[in-house]
Amino acid sequence: MRIFTASLATETNTFSPVPTDLNAFKAAFYAGPGEHPETPTLCSSVVPILRRRARAEGFTVIEGTSCWAEPAGLIQRRTYEMLRDQILDELRAAMPVDAVVLGLHGAMVAQGYDDPEGDLLSKVRALVGPDVLIAAEFDPHSHLTTLRVASLDIMAAFLEFPHTDFEQRGEHVVELALRTLRGEIKPVISTFDCRMITIYPTSREPMRSFVDRLMALEGKDGILSASVIHGFMAGDVPDMGTRIVVVTDNDRAKGDALAKALGHELYGMRKRTTMPMLDTEAGLDRALHLRAARPDKPAVVADVWDNPGGGVAGDATHILRRIIERGIEHVGVATIWDPIAVSFCHAAGEGAELDLRVGGKCGPQGGEPLDLRVTVQGVFDAGWQSFRNSRVTLGRTAVVRPIGTTVDIVLITSRTQTYEPDIFSNQGIDFAGKALLLVKSTNHFHAGFQPIASEIVYVAAPTSYPTDPATTPYRKASLELWPRVADPLGLES
Ligand SMILES: [Zn+2]
Repeated sequence: MRIFTASLATETNTFSPVPTDLNAFKAAFYAGPGEHPETPTLCSSVVPILRRRARAEGFTVIEGTSCWAEPAGLIQRRTYEMLRDQILDELRAAMPVDAVVLGLHGAMVAQGYDDPEGDLLSKVRALVGPDVLIAAEFDPHSHLTTLRVASLDIMAAFLEFPHTDFEQRGEHVVELALRTLRGEIKPVISTFDCRMITIYPTSREPMRSFVDRLMALEGKDGILSASVIHGFMAGDVPDMGTRIVVVTDNDRAKGDALAKALGHELYGMRKRTTMPMLDTEAGLDRALHLRAARPDKPAVVADVWDNPGGGVAGDATHILRRIIERGIEHVGVATIWDPIAVSFCHAAGEGAELDLRVGGKCGPQGGEPLDLRVTVQGVFDAGWQSFRNSRVTLGRTAVVRPIGTTVDIVLITSRTQTYEPDIFSNQGIDFAGKALLLVKSTNHFHAGFQPIASEIVYVAAPTSYPTDPATTPYRKASLELWPRVADPLGLES
């Protein structure tokens, strides 16, 4: 038995000012054939999982390239075509194979390609023919197209948001693929279009219970897998929107009916899934109030939309400006993406005092740059943070403290959202001693920060992210979706 595996993944915010090229992949994660580390990345866990199982169970795995770019704007056409063709060449050289198992994200958009994953999968199908199994794992913040479904035999997305289960779902996809190859099951994919787009954190109700029920369905009564494609509202492509995916053991009618029933259920809770968000002033007031009530732990303020994980630059200054102007003390800020400021801090050296322009460099939406007199608290050549079992690079980093404040700001060169509190401690900041921690993430930070926080406050400050699908100027996405249309499925009239 021979299985080919590879991973090509990023999430494209078509509204982002930050273009994506080959360097963006090489800077974030790039592993040639056989070079994938034993630890997984968010979208490539199928590669180390298959390697481990092949060793234990005595089949052959041929590894192709795995790569990931931090979410940003459109992928340069040449970059996408080069990475696609490289993986197709590796597959061609590996043939004959019994299966192809890919780690994808599902929200890539390249210049000239609204559906790169569909393009890649259809070319894989053309190469291997109709009888070879093709399976893929996806991030739920992706787009589901008919081309993908037509090219795939097995698909599943992470169920959790934050995506704490990316490895389990990788195991799940690999297990289904191996069972299919052993002739135990015959997977068939059913889908349902919910005609809506919103945010679905599973760290709170009603999504918590919905996802628990999906998990309970799997493995029983011919239901092999159930996933929600949340959709990605910053990707302006024709198939943007929320979908249900059910994989059955050769029972399309049952899969179709279940996907529709689950889709209707999710549709019914569409106005209640997102987390409550405050504006900057109210959010800071609330965090200070909570901190006063529980002084043993920091209050965490999430800058929800200035989330590099959603493709924006991550250099917005609105909330930080107000923290400094209001004289709020004992604050940790992770992070501001600012390669120029980091290079100045490294050049000035640890302990130096200098005038520094911080953030606000990539566009007007996230606020003006902050001109600060700072002390360089620390400089690091290879900053990093954890995300569960994976290690996320921050590139060169610097920690600066504006003079006259107790606000420590982590400046990074490799764009990433905030995942875990070690983003502070690895950069020399005692996060537990802070009153307030400002993080840049929509919800992925929740798993790591909840245990150390007195409370989490979600703040919706301005950025370049298209936060309101009811008013976003989409050109390609369907406008017949909730919240653009009150009841697009016509279930409530
Ligand atoms: Zn995601």
